[in-house]
Amino acid sequence: MEGDVVIIGAGLIGLALARELAQRGASVRMLETGEPGHAASWAAAGMLAPSSEGLDGAFYELCLASLERYPAFAAALHEETGLDVHLRREGFISPAYDDAGLAFVERRAAEARERGFHARMLTTAQTLQLEPALAPVRAAALFEHEASVDNRRLGRALRAAVERLGVRIDEGLPWVRLAATHRRVNGVETASGFVPASIVVNAAGAWAGSLEGVPELARVPVEPVKGQMLALGMPANLVRHTIYARHGTYLVPRDDGRLIVGATGERVGFDTRVTAAGVQRLLERALRVAPGLKDLALVETWAGLRPGTPDSLPYLGPGAIEGYFLATGHLRNGVLLTPITAEVVADAIEGRAPRIPLAPFSPERARAASNVAS
Ligand SMILES: Cc1cc2nc3c(=O)[nH]c(=O)nc-3n(C[C@H](O)[C@H](O)[C@H](O)COP(=O)(O)OP(=O)(O)OC[C@H]3O[C@@H](n4cnc5c(N)ncnc54)[C@H](O)[C@@H]3O)c2cc1C
Repeated sequence: MEGDVVIIGAGLIGLALARELAQRGASVRMLETGEPGHAASWAAAGMLAPSSEGLDGAFYELCLASLERYPAFAAALHEETGLDVHLRREGFISPAYDDAGLAFVERRAAEARERGFHARMLTTAQTLQLEPALAPVRAAALFEHEASVDNRRLGRALRAAVERLGVRIDEGLPWVRLAATHRRVNGVETASGFVPASIVVNAAGAWAGSLEGVPELARVPVEPVKGQMLALGMPANLVRHTIYARHGTYLVPRDDGRLIVGATGERVGFDTRVTAAGVQRLLERALRVAPGLKDLALVETWAGLRPGTPDSLPYLGPGAIEGYFLATGHLRNGVLLTPITAEVVADAIEGRAPRIPLAPFSPERARAASNVAS
């Protein structure tokens, strides 16, 4: 494609879009106030789990389409950069402890099977045989199509890939501001000067709603949803599958020997402190799910900000003024949605017909909602 594109925000979403556009021949420049790949994209657990997450409707379809792309996406990045993003495909175990939990996982497993995925129910004994560190369960579902990726490695690989393609990344900028009229974008103002552009993409994650210079009619309500996480040092293969218990408690094994334990979900603004109560909650829940972890060392704690939207769906595609595009609001599923987001937003920028219905994710709905409210 022809033309210059400026992408604001170099998280997984911005980086993957930059790679896609550059591969299609666009001249791309990225502007980043922090360090590429070091915000939510660094903090995430890297689960690729549309079934365990209990998603439905058009969003479930979008997530499945992205999951389907992951093996080729990871392989291409390896080829381009030599970096392995540690895509783990052992599958997810969703334990159930009571009638409601059992009904939920049975329904999700049946839905997954209807879609042609391998999903089956496990008895208590089968579950404990696969994962001896777990507490006894009533039963569990095994979702073999779900996977995880080391999102920190993915960030490094995407950065290397875009730099190889000649994309310039200006990072650590003290401030970045959209330059636009009420009709169209002109470029981006930064602490280091003006960057002219006819196309600007807002991929600023949890900060997308507070990007300065965006005319009122093009603003989208994105708010941070804080997630606290921790990692335990794990002997090899103590936990092999990702364990996805209900109420947002999960254990994600990494190839580097860490077991990621997540996560809290807090609406407390732009606060990334790890708190005593947050760590207590994570450990309590993790040890209830897997008492066999009690002697492991606590090796890391951190927190990140998910980009949340009022209806928990992302904003993908053209904004309300010419040349302005959005690729944000992925909340809990931005790592999963990285490949498909790059593809569909690049299509929208090129003016190609969408290969997946994007109406449910149109940034226009933010305007419709604010008109109703006012
Ligand atoms: C604790 C936690 C666990 C998660 N687990 C999972 C998971 O298991 N699976 C999954 O799919 N998703 C998960 N997510 C969600 C996922 O991390 C996010 O949806 C995804 O990383 C969003 O990517 P992004 O590139 O939009 O945002 P970010 O990674 O936050 O990147 C946005 C970038 O924009 C930059 N920026 C902000 N303002 C400006 C500005 N004005 N100018 C220039 N740059 C700016 C920031 O510095 C940042 O680098 C999790 C998130 C958290 C916090």
